[in-house]
Amino acid sequence: MKHEITNQREDNMLGNNICAFCGHRVANKKNTHYLTDMIIRKCLNDEGCNTREKGSYYVISSHNNSVCYHYQREVSSKIIEEIIGRTTTDKENQQEGKIPFSVDDVFCSDCEKNIFTNIEKDFSNCILPKFRKSTPHQAKEVIISGTDISKLRLFFYIQLWRSCVCGKLSLPDSLQQKLHTFILNYKNPTDEIYDIPLSITYLETRKDEDYTGNIVTFGTTCNPYVIFMNDFVVQVYDSLENKHFCELYGINEESSFDQYINVGENEFRVKVVNDEKRKIIIENFMREQAEIFRYGLQDIFIRVSLYFFGHLPEPNQFDEFMIRINNKPIGIRYSKSEIVKELYNYFTGRVFVPSNFFVKF
Ligand SMILES: [Zn+2]
Repeated sequence: MKHEITNQREDNMLGNNICAFCGHRVANKKNTHYLTDMIIRKCLNDEGCNTREKGSYYVISSHNNSVCYHYQREVSSKIIEEIIGRTTTDKENQQEGKIPFSVDDVFCSDCEKNIFTNIEKDFSNCILPKFRKSTPHQAKEVIISGTDISKLRLFFYIQLWRSCVCGKLSLPDSLQQKLHTFILNYKNPTDEIYDIPLSITYLETRKDEDYTGNIVTFGTTCNPYVIFMNDFVVQVYDSLENKHFCELYGINEESSFDQYINVGENEFRVKVVNDEKRKIIIENFMREQAEIFRYGLQDIFIRVSLYFFGHLPEPNQFDEFMIRINNKPIGIRYSKSEIVKELYNYFTGRVFVPSNFFVKF
C-alpha cells in the first residue's frame, strides 16, 4: 500500500494522472469511451451505419447557446458541404479525428482491457442479441433472467460510473462508491448489486437511417439520474424513497412507472417503447431543446442591444433576427461563430466583426 502511494506521488510529480478506477496505475489509456461505442455509434454515424470513423453529428450546448457540428475522418467532404453549406474551417478539421464521448488519460489500459471490455463483451454476447433486430415489433417489455441480470446491471453501472467520473453526470458520492465497488468485484457479484433501483428502456428503432435521429446525452434531473444512449435509456435512483415520477418526454408513464423500476428482482423488466412512440419522444426532446436555446439566445440578443445602444430591443426585433438565422444552411445556423457574426451584422450593419466582440458574447 505504501509502495503504491509512493508511486502515485512520483507519478503526480511527473505530471501523470492516476487511473480513476484502480487508483494506482498511470492513466495512460487514450480514447476510453465513457458511453460504450457499440451502443452509441449507430446514432452518431452518417446514415445510421455501424462503421468506425463515420461519425457525423451535432452537439447541442445549452451552456453557451450554440450547436456544433462534428464529423470524423471517413465522412466524405461532399456530405459535409451539403450539411453545413460551406467547406470546413481549420478548427473543425483539427477536431476531425476526435472520438465522441471518450476521454484520454483518465483510466489505465489494464482497467480498460480487463474490466470494462469484459463487462461490455458480456453485454454484447448475452444481452444485446435480445434487442435491436430481435425485439418483436409489438413487444411491451423484454424480460432478463438468471445470471444475465448481473451482466445487464454491470454494463449500465459502468456507463453511469464512468460518465460520473468524467464529469458528465452528477451522482451522489454514496451511489458512485457503490457502483465502483460492484464494478471492481464484477467477476463475483454479490446480491447487493440488485439493491440499486434501475430502469432501462429500449427505444425500438426499425430503420438503420433512423438511428441518427436518436439522442446521446445526459439528463438534467436527479432521482432519476438519466443517460440517453441511442436506443437505450438508463434511469437510476440512489434509493426508492427518493424516486419521483418524471415523464421524461413520454418515456415514463404514471401507470407503469413503478413496475419498470427494478430492485431486488428475480426478473429484470426492460420496457420497450415502439418505433412510433420513439419518434414522438424525440420530437418532445427536440422541442424542449429548441425552447431552451431560444430563451438563451434572446438573453444574448438583449445584452447585445444594451451593449450597443443602452436600451432594450424593439418587441419584433428578436423575431426578425431569428428569421435571418433560420435562412442559413442548417449545419451552421446555430453555431456560436455564426450567431455572433449575425448579431454584429444585425445591430451595426457592418460585415467585419472585431475579434474582441466574439469574446464578449
Ligand atoms: Zn486502472
